[in-house]
Amino acid sequence: MSSLMEFKDVDVHYGPIQALKKVSLNVNEGEIVTLIGANGAGKSTLLMSIFGQPRISSGQIIYRGEDISKKSAHYVASHGLAQSPEGRRIFPGMTVEENLLMGTIPIGMDHAEEDMRKMFDLFPRLEERRTQRASTMSGGEQQMLAIARALMSRPTLLLLDEPSLGLAPIIVKQIFEILKDVASTGMTIFLVEQNANHALKLADRGYVMVNGEIRMTGTGDELLVNPEVREAYLGGH
Ligand code: ATP
Repeated sequence: MSSLMEFKDVDVHYGPIQALKKVSLNVNEGEIVTLIGANGAGKSTLLMSIFGQPRISSGQIIYRGEDISKKSAHYVASHGLAQSPEGRRIFPGMTVEENLLMGTIPIGMDHAEEDMRKMFDLFPRLEERRTQRASTMSGGEQQMLAIARALMSRPTLLLLDEPSLGLAPIIVKQIFEILKDVASTGMTIFLVEQNANHALKLADRGYVMVNGEIRMTGTGDELLVNPEVREAYLGGH
């Protein structure tokens, strides 16, 4: 399997605070990799550093063989990396369709109609609400829209920041079922989550982040049964 994205000894500082400490991880083509960790562990920082915000203070972020750590967010987004950000950040005043079209910005409108059809097959709820303003939709629907919007740019690597955040358990289950469908298309996914249970069940491999450091790594199944992981992230069950 060839490596699509790799972090090599990455440090990130916010002034005096070191948020990432010598972080190394990799995502191979076709894999689903998750990064789990508690609130404040540094997961969002790691994801955002891929787009250069914040800039890393040392190390490298290699994507398709190229160090992208000094590139602009625009450069990264137009080279096949799409993010569905934490808190969703869809355009609330725009309709579902308009939001989806915004997702095509990095690649242009050539495939927009065809891809919108695919999104409606994957997320039937979005089709029902295609002319509705995003702000009027439920949290779960907004999350679906954020994921679909990211997919509209035909990414090589889909980055997801806490898709389960703030959603009821039944909706979280639905979102993860959809992610499984997305994964079955061969999409490479890097998923940052506090919901370790769902994330590890979906993922081929996982990394555990504690205070800005990678503490553990293994297959999703290995981490799910690991006593330390169970104690810290799965409520000891
Ligand atoms: P969450 O689940 O809450 O998003 P996280 O694991 O994603 O948590 P980060 O948001 O990456 O964690 O935060 C990592 C550390 O960096 C925390 O100590 C946080 O307080 C700090 N931090 C994050 N953003 C900034 C910032 N803009 N300025 C200063 N410190 C920051």
